[in-house]
Amino acid sequence: MAINPSVIEDFSLKSNNTFAISAKAKYFAQAKSVVCLKNLISSYPHLPKFFLGAGSNVLLTQDFPGLIIKIAIPGISYLYEQEDNVFLEAGAGEPWENLIDYAIQHQLYGIENLTLIPGTVGGACVQNIGAYSAEFQEVVEWVKLYDMAENVEKILTKQECQFGYRESIFKHSPSFAIVSVGIRLNKKPCFRLQYPGIKEEMQKRGVSTPTLLDVVEVIRNIRNSKLPDTKKLGNAGSFFKNPKISLKQYEELRQSYPLVPGFPEGDNQVKVPAGWLIEQCGWKGKRRGNCGVYEKQALILVNYGEAQGNEILLLAKEIQSSVQSKFHISLETEVVIL
Ligand SMILES: Cc1cc2nc3c(=O)[nH]c(=O)nc-3n(C[C@H](O)[C@H](O)[C@H](O)COP(=O)(O)OP(=O)(O)OC[C@H]3O[C@@H](n4cnc5c(N)ncnc54)[C@H](O)[C@@H]3O)c2cc1C
Repeated sequence: MAINPSVIEDFSLKSNNTFAISAKAKYFAQAKSVVCLKNLISSYPHLPKFFLGAGSNVLLTQDFPGLIIKIAIPGISYLYEQEDNVFLEAGAGEPWENLIDYAIQHQLYGIENLTLIPGTVGGACVQNIGAYSAEFQEVVEWVKLYDMAENVEKILTKQECQFGYRESIFKHSPSFAIVSVGIRLNKKPCFRLQYPGIKEEMQKRGVSTPTLLDVVEVIRNIRNSKLPDTKKLGNAGSFFKNPKISLKQYEELRQSYPLVPGFPEGDNQVKVPAGWLIEQCGWKGKRRGNCGVYEKQALILVNYGEAQGNEILLLAKEIQSSVQSKFHISLETEVVIL
């Protein structure tokens, strides 16, 4: 029996993950404050625990035998400002899009390219979300967390967060619960519109000097036309990271596949779009029972209704092995497998 009255036993997680997988948590609770979070953790000292945001980047492959704590700490507060910047604190459980709306409302710049990415502020920080040439880490000042292993609250500087491409220290520190994030937004625009599709969409709309709202609307429009709606088709966005390979390997690859796209990454590295590699292996639009590869974007795996997490994982492994044998490139998952 649950010790804490706010804890639910044998809880179905179906509506708490965008893949809509029906795995169960032995215990489930929401933490709306740090006090509540600490209380929950101390109530179940011997159980495994997992911190969940909006579940938009997890694949549940089995029932969880311990306590899942959904971090629901809300709030966006103005802290102070300087000549060019405004500093905010956002609760880890705040939906990411609320921060975008706050920025639009207050004419603050820096996160507009990240509009419509599902999830919470905490999840955005763990994954260092990115889209259309922008990354979350560019606006982070510090991260406040509760470390359940040491029973202490800590503040990490941006450097200590070790952000990288869909990477951070939080991905490797399961005892850290992010509580809030310090964010620095710009008072003046510095738009990044070079990503393919953005300029064309601006031209179509007859916009030559875009406003913040123009940029947000264009990106929302592009995303809505490309990505599956999680309410209709379970998915977690890009399932795999775009692999980085050496320039030498890229040049060899180009001899066999002259059309292979590649983006220089410095240090003689080239990033190759995983979606292209998967598509070349014939996976785009393919269905395997209850799951499959999205018809418009091969990087997205979808649940057609009743898929189990393991079916999706199996499909992911098949994709990884066909990309490995055709291109000798290994694909790493972006989605967190639980
Ligand atoms: C349709 C769709 C489109 C997407 N597009 C993009 C995109 O363009 N770019 C991109 O980068 N991502 C994208 N994603 C992936 C996803 O939206 C992001 O990774 C998002 O930030 C995850 O946030 P979340 O709150 O849902 O985290 P969850 O999925 O709940 O959790 C992800 C990981 O973070 C951990 N975590 C979450 N909150 C906390 C916390 N407070 N403290 C400690 N750990 C925590 C979890 O333990 C887990 O390991 C997309 C997903 C979907 C479904």
